[in-house]
Amino acid sequence: MKTSVSELVTAERESTEIPEAADSLFAMAVNVMNHAADVLGLDNYIRSILSQPKNSIIVNFPVQMDDGNYEIVRGFRIQHNNALGPYKGGIRYHEDVALDDVRALALWMTLKCSLAGVPFGGAKGGVKVNPRERSRDEMCRITRRFTSALGTNIGPDYDIPAPDVGTNAQTMVWIMDTYMNTTAGLARQLPLNVVTGKTLECGGSLGREKATGQGVVYVCEEMLPAMGITLKGARVALQGYGNVGSHTAMLLHDLGAKIVGVMDHTGAIVEENGLDAHKLAEYVAQAGGVADFKEATAVDWDAFYAVETDVFIPAALEKMITADIAKCIQTKVIVEAANGPTDAPAEPILSERGIEILPAILCNSGGVTVSYFEWVQNKNNETWVLEDVDRRLRRYVAEMCARVRKTRREFNCDMRTSAYVVALQRIGDVYKQRGIFP
Ligand code: GLU
Repeated sequence: MKTSVSELVTAERESTEIPEAADSLFAMAVNVMNHAADVLGLDNYIRSILSQPKNSIIVNFPVQMDDGNYEIVRGFRIQHNNALGPYKGGIRYHEDVALDDVRALALWMTLKCSLAGVPFGGAKGGVKVNPRERSRDEMCRITRRFTSALGTNIGPDYDIPAPDVGTNAQTMVWIMDTYMNTTAGLARQLPLNVVTGKTLECGGSLGREKATGQGVVYVCEEMLPAMGITLKGARVALQGYGNVGSHTAMLLHDLGAKIVGVMDHTGAIVEENGLDAHKLAEYVAQAGGVADFKEATAVDWDAFYAVETDVFIPAALEKMITADIAKCIQTKVIVEAANGPTDAPAEPILSERGIEILPAILCNSGGVTVSYFEWVQNKNNETWVLEDVDRRLRRYVAEMCARVRKTRREFNCDMRTSAYVVALQRIGDVYKQRGIFP
């Protein structure tokens, strides 16, 4: 009897499916994807392929800490899908990193790269460590051991890491150096582009550090006017003031927006007349958080979310906009700069209250888009000037936003579904054209 690919894949999926915890981030991500797949009418076998990562790598490795003791550290690299190109995605360092979250983040990378139109698949990595509690030397040793444990599971044409929460350009340079001295060095290759998001001196791209924030701002410029919001004079609040939050705020401030509130892990501050985003960034670099910033008023949780804004930008971790926050937040549009910041139960509440959501895979794709530019520059031994990087990023963002708007009209759906439909359409086309081996 002839069995279709779709039946085979579905049977395989059912037999290997791991039961998900009720609050699984991966299950939440797959649900949203499946909704868009229904709207699009995506073939079942493609949806089944995307419903689990291709490779899940878990490594445990010993590291000597500054006090002389050894600790076992756990790291993950999830390679979700590579139909569009090499696996691509950040590595995060956080004390709560778990397999389930990394799987969700890897799935979002697959969709984000497809939506952004860059020729990469999706991956994500994580190391369960709190970088705030570790010395620079300890972080260096952890990074080098993690990289050597990953071995040839990463590579410039296979899987290309980048920064994420808790990692930065220095982390990427340690990964590159370790990779060159172990795996690639044996073949006398020096592939700078085994990672992106490096320091400028070590092969990074101009504009990469601010790229995610720059992308968020370009998306705002493309999408907000149609929602009746002009950036000049717009009231904006942010959750998170790390790389993404601070760059977004500074760029918005320069365009004349008023940053009226910021919250992070240290506290919340508000300033009715708008605070100086640049001064706040300088302060946070010194103090480690927004608490006690002198040019704003410290407030508690309720008062922060009660501030009336035009745009609210979550730029921290996943599921930070809970159902409770959704009930009280006073804003017109949520611009998701973080990955997966809106918890599933919050979504219908926001929609009922008429609050529009611009989804993460749309808003924060500037980071991976400029990662792609860095990867191309390294491959060709080129360095592009900043104006070039920004101009190209703007073109990618404009094209992506135009497709999302058109798809929204065509399918009469919300922005999140529309962004997912655009992403799934491209992956679906690739699977249909390439077929399933053999
Ligand atoms: N970690 C970033 C993200 O979530 C950037 C990934 C990359 O540049 O590969 O999009």
